Amino acid sequence: MNWESNIRRVVPYTPGEQPKCTDVIKLNTNENPYPPTLRVAEILSNYEYHRMRLYPDTNSEVLVNALADFYKVKPSQIFVGVGSDDVISMAFMTFFNSDKPILFPDITYSFYDVWADVYRIPYKTIPLTEDFRIDPADYRIENGGIIFPNPNAPTGVLESLETVEEIIRANPDSVVMVDEAYIDFGGKSALSLLDKYENLLVIQTFSKSRSMAGMRIGFAIGSEKMIKYLNDVKFSVNSYTMNPLTQLCGAEAVKDTAYFEKTTQRIAATREHAKERLTAMGFTYPDSMSNFIFASHPDYDAAEIFAALKERRIFVRHWNKPRISQYLRITIGTPEEMEAFFTALEEILRTLPKRGNA
Ligand code: PMP
Repeated sequence: MNWESNIRRVVPYTPGEQPKCTDVIKLNTNENPYPPTLRVAEILSNYEYHRMRLYPDTNSEVLVNALADFYKVKPSQIFVGVGSDDVISMAFMTFFNSDKPILFPDITYSFYDVWADVYRIPYKTIPLTEDFRIDPADYRIENGGIIFPNPNAPTGVLESLETVEEIIRANPDSVVMVDEAYIDFGGKSALSLLDKYENLLVIQTFSKSRSMAGMRIGFAIGSEKMIKYLNDVKFSVNSYTMNPLTQLCGAEAVKDTAYFEKTTQRIAATREHAKERLTAMGFTYPDSMSNFIFASHPDYDAAEIFAALKERRIFVRHWNKPRISQYLRITIGTPEEMEAFFTALEEILRTLPKRGNA
């Protein structure tokens, strides 16, 4: 009768909607609008299915080696997982094991507090400044660890390497994780700081800049010591997380540097154009260096714009949360998708009642 009293109860993370129908313009989960490199298609079509009989390489060597070559680090400095969600979750379990609260921004990736809750890690959120910036001075308090995305999500705001370093430098007794899910769209990676700080963990993903959200590949790069600790925990939970086909596809994707550069630059160019169009329509937004823009209109209600777009089968993301309820997060699609989005948005703004006049 009492079996429910000992359950680990949690409120789970809410992912963005994945609509079943395909005739939608999907600008709601920061996916890449371009396909992965054709090298991935080749691996998929040539793969001998009977190889699935065997367990995968638990060390994902083929993928780890490709990443080590690309980022010019030792393979022993790399940890891979099933999406960066898996990597960050393992990293929380490994490195955030103190009675002191871990710190992250109040407006940030909404999975951090969920992991903290599920692992019973105390946390304290640090308010971003009025203009959605991280003030490194706020991170000079006692803590059990620190994590923040750079660029931040859902704001898109990029902090300088100096700001990132200031936080790491001030916290030699904590692990500092920089979640760089969106770094390839114009930011400077904290990977260049790894030689200086043994307590830094940089986390990246194949889901955005490498167009492989469905394949689930994420990775962390840090000191050899840190990666050893991370692997010890991972191998105490589940050794066979990444399947062999994914390992091969990931390795091939990393090797196609030209395609990676072409698509990320194209998205950055579409983003810059989108900023101009949004400004012309009266939207304001913190400057974004990611593959999305976090925009607000002074005259129209964000939830109403969100609903009107959805009626036209255009999906963006909206959170009914303090400080950000008047913002929409708009993923950068292809130029054609963005054109259709702007046409719909113009129409909506012409017909929607202004805020407060409803
Ligand atoms: N970090 C941030 C900041 C994100 O926005 C996302 C995407 N939802 C992730 C991590 C996780 O991405 P994935 O698990 O697909 O690598």
